[in-house]
Amino acid sequence: MQNFLIKDGLLQGANFIPSPNFNARPTIQGKPTITGIVIHNISLPPSQFGKTDKTGTHFVKSFFQNQLNPDDHEYFKTIANLQVSAHLFIERNGQVTQFVNFDDRAWHAGQSSYLGRANCNDFTIGIELEGDDFSEFTDVQYDVLAQVITAIHHAYPATHRHLMGHSDIAPNRKTDPGEFFEWGRLRQLVGEFMGDLGK
Ligand SMILES: [Zn+2]
Repeated sequence: MQNFLIKDGLLQGANFIPSPNFNARPTIQGKPTITGIVIHNISLPPSQFGKTDKTGTHFVKSFFQNQLNPDDHEYFKTIANLQVSAHLFIERNGQVTQFVNFDDRAWHAGQSSYLGRANCNDFTIGIELEGDDFSEFTDVQYDVLAQVITAIHHAYPATHRHLMGHSDIAPNRKTDPGEFFEWGRLRQLVGEFMGDLGK
């Protein structure tokens, strides 16, 4: 397995492409608290994977940079003005891009609540998988996701056992990561990787 490390809120080994869509997390006794991880899916245009603009930039990366061109696809006209982001994006081939420092608040969850606490962006890390609600995710996506989550658990121990889907925290609005997402498989891999690192 690839060993990801987190240093100063950045995932070593990932491309870092800063998004303007973030702000400070609320602090408790001067420190941000990070106590969960939210899994999403995204594809642009919907259900098309690996698509890029004329410059070769992945549409999802353009979207999180506020640089999606509404002329490139009809659907983009409806979302080009949204200001959103995630901490991480994992493509179908397992490539990982970070957009927001983990210590900062990315804008991925929207109106949401988890265990009675509202505004999940305040205290979670958001991970987008390239995919949709109607397709299997790739093997390498599960592997990389589990490796990344393992690194997050070590850097932010309070996230341990607080994995959630966007649909869990915003059930009336959101369906991702969808019924094809294999939670059992992810948990098994994370458990294996956590065990490896503990030896
Ligand atoms: Zn989502």
